[in-house]
Amino acid sequence: MTKIYSVTGELQLTDLGTTLIHEHLLLRSEEVTAQFPHLYDEADLYDKAVTALKEVKQRGIDTICDPTVMGIGRDVDFMKRVSEETNVQVIAATGVYSFNEIPPHFANREIDYLAQAFIHDIEKGIQGTDIKASFLKCAADAKGITEDLDKVFRAVARAHKATGVPIMTHSHPASKNGLNQIRIFEEEGVDFSKVMIGHCGDTEDLDYLHEILNKGVFIGMDRYSQGPLSIPKRNITLMKLIEQGYSNKMFLSQDYCCSIDWFDADHEHYKNSPEWSITYLTDKLIPALLEKGVSQGDIDLMMKHNVIDWFTGQK
Ligand SMILES: [Zn+2]
Repeated sequence: MTKIYSVTGELQLTDLGTTLIHEHLLLRSEEVTAQFPHLYDEADLYDKAVTALKEVKQRGIDTICDPTVMGIGRDVDFMKRVSEETNVQVIAATGVYSFNEIPPHFANREIDYLAQAFIHDIEKGIQGTDIKASFLKCAADAKGITEDLDKVFRAVARAHKATGVPIMTHSHPASKNGLNQIRIFEEEGVDFSKVMIGHCGDTEDLDYLHEILNKGVFIGMDRYSQGPLSIPKRNITLMKLIEQGYSNKMFLSQDYCCSIDWFDADHEHYKNSPEWSITYLTDKLIPALLEKGVSQGDIDLMMKHNVIDWFTGQK
C-alpha cells in the first residue's frame, strides 16, 4: 500500500476525510518570486491562505490536495506553516506546470532524469525538507502536448510506476486533449485507476467525457465558480453524469488560489468569475445539489471516498 503524506507527516487513509482535491494555497510566477521578491508582501500572502483554510475548516473540510508544482511557485515550507496554523491537512505534489516548454535543464536531458527528480520528491522530500509529495501533476492546455510536455507526461508516468502515487492532470477539454494525455499514460503502462484528468468540468461535451470515463480514470469537475463555463452549465453536465452513475469517478473542487500573482485586482479574470471562492462548494454548490435530489451518498463519493480510491487504485 502506498503511504500518503501530508505536509505535516504520514496520513492514514481514514484521516483524509472530506477533501478538496484541487486548490492552491499560493500560486505565483516562481522566477519573479526568486528575482524580484520586493514585489510580494509575504505576510499578506500568508494571511490570505490562513484565512481561506480557516473558512473551509469551519465548514467541515479536512484535507486539501494542492497541485502547485514547478512553474507556479511551489513552496512546501509555506504550505506546512499554513497547515499547522489552520489544522487543515495539505497534501503536496511534484511535477511540472507548463503549457509549452520546460527549463533547458530538463529539456536537454532524458525522460528518466526528470522522473528521478519527481521520485526524489516522493521518496526523500521536497526542496531540502522531509516533506514528501503524495501525488504527481502535469499539464497541457490549448497548445496540446508539445515535445517538452510529452517528456513531462512520460516522466510523470514513470515516477508513478516507480512509486505508486496517483496522477492529476490539467487538461483542455475544448481541444479534447485529455484523450492524448491518456494515450501517453497507456503507452507508459500507467494504472488508470490512479489517474485524474483535471478540468473536465470545463466542457458540456458528454461524448468526450464518456470517452474519458470509459478508460477507467477519474475526472475533475474542479473549477467550480471560475473557468470558461458558467455554473448552471457545469451543473447540467454534472447532474447528467451523476444520473448515469459516474459519481464514483468524479471530484468536485474550485481550483481556487488563495493568492495568485498573474493578475491585478481589476483583471477580467475576477470580473468573469465573481463567485470564485474557496467556500463556493460548501456554501452554495453542495446545498444546491442536495436540493436538486443528489444524494448525500453521491456527495460523499465525490468529496471523500473517491479520494481514497484515487490514492489506492484498483480494488
Ligand atoms: Zn490549479
